[in-house]
Amino acid sequence: ERAPVVTIDGPSGAGKGTISQLLAKHLGWQLLDSGAIYRVLALAAIHHDVELENEESITLLASHLDVKFLTGNEKDPVQVILEGEDVTTAIRTQECSNAASKVAAFPRVREALLRRQRAFRTAPGLIADGRDMGTVVFPTASAKLYLTASAQERAQRRYNQLQDKGFDVNIERLLAEIIERDDRDMNRPVAPLVPAENALVIDTSDKGIDEVLELALNYINQQL
Ligand code: C5P
Repeated sequence: ERAPVVTIDGPSGAGKGTISQLLAKHLGWQLLDSGAIYRVLALAAIHHDVELENEESITLLASHLDVKFLTGNEKDPVQVILEGEDVTTAIRTQECSNAASKVAAFPRVREALLRRQRAFRTAPGLIADGRDMGTVVFPTASAKLYLTASAQERAQRRYNQLQDKGFDVNIERLLAEIIERDDRDMNRPVAPLVPAENALVIDTSDKGIDEVLELALNYINQQL
């Protein structure tokens, strides 16, 4: 019997990261932040001067990517180490977000990262956060959630989050980039962002964290 998986997919800023962290903590399960893998890959490409448009080179980089996820602290529950360097904060820049969604559009890059993501499925269970967790990476998941919210609301949340982390950000630019990134993620030919069949869709626009967490937990308990 394999360890249970709960998938949490949706666009950026819908609250997936926060809810995934809280669920993992509550259940005592592992956490996979799959977006961090695409971000690290993008950062590695930038560091090594690999062209973001070159699928072959990016795929090669993806299959040799030296990344470790360590237990972090309250602020950053997962510490991300790329080639021995702590990149936990560096992968959160807007440049890295945009570069991540570019490299994530290549089919062979996604293929090269599949095994690495599936390796997170260990006892007692896994909360998998991303875009294609329920559709592609863990199609047999026990419970699938899809969190969404209006673009305006998501831009506002991203703004608050980035400001807290000390980044200097412009909300209009953030909104434009969110719309552009959603468009790229939803319309790519491979693993596009869509709710998995029979996923529970939660619009978090007018909901607080506690309310979303309760809805999610009730649903998960029903499905497990
Ligand atoms: O979730 P996050 O914003 O960190 O993800 C960064 C980018 O990585 C997304 O915009 C998306 O293009 C890509 N991604 C993906 N599949 C995932 C997770 C992230 O394509 N499962």
